[in-house]
Amino acid sequence: MKRRTFLKGSAAAVGGAVALGFDLRQARAEMRELKIARTTETRSTCPYCSVSCGVIIHTLGDKSKNVKPSVVHVEGDPDHPINRGTLCPKGITLRDDIVSPSRLTVPQVRRPGSDTWERISWDQAISEIARHVKDTRDRTFVAKNAKGEVVNRAPGMGIIGGCTDTNEFNFLMLKAIAGLGIPYRDTQARV
Ligand code: SF4
Repeated sequence: MKRRTFLKGSAAAVGGAVALGFDLRQARAEMRELKIARTTETRSTCPYCSVSCGVIIHTLGDKSKNVKPSVVHVEGDPDHPINRGTLCPKGITLRDDIVSPSRLTVPQVRRPGSDTWERISWDQAISEIARHVKDTRDRTFVAKNAKGEVVNRAPGMGIIGGCTDTNEFNFLMLKAIAGLGIPYRDTQARV
């Protein structure tokens, strides 16, 4: 069958359904509903920008034994005060990011002089970050300014809170960082 013949036949079939009084809208709506009928809803925050829109992640199979859960749909959270169910073109692609085989799920480090990324454990990552923080603070610490006033700063580091972090989390994070004397700190979340 040629493409043109097929399209003509499809149009005739749709026209025939309408002529016979079938309303296809209900059937289409039913198909959309079935897609998420057996999913578990998890509320989260879009990680892409500081608007921090609320999302609902639909996961299939996460309540069954021996079944690997899979994210089948992500939509805007209608109860979220920031976006009220809407998502921008970037946020609406969130499912592709979650299920992408190239998504980073373990810490990686590129050593000085190396051109490759090395996979390391979370324990090793935390331990190495702690070592770097301590060494950088010791190396760059400023106890007094040019006027001789006590400032106790560690200007060799800066930190920014992620867009999925809540204000409460960021408040605690900034308190801890201020305790180290790090002067460059900010958050980007609006949640
Ligand atoms: S949906 Fe768009 S505007 Fe909202 S947080 Fe994600 S990227 Fe930002």
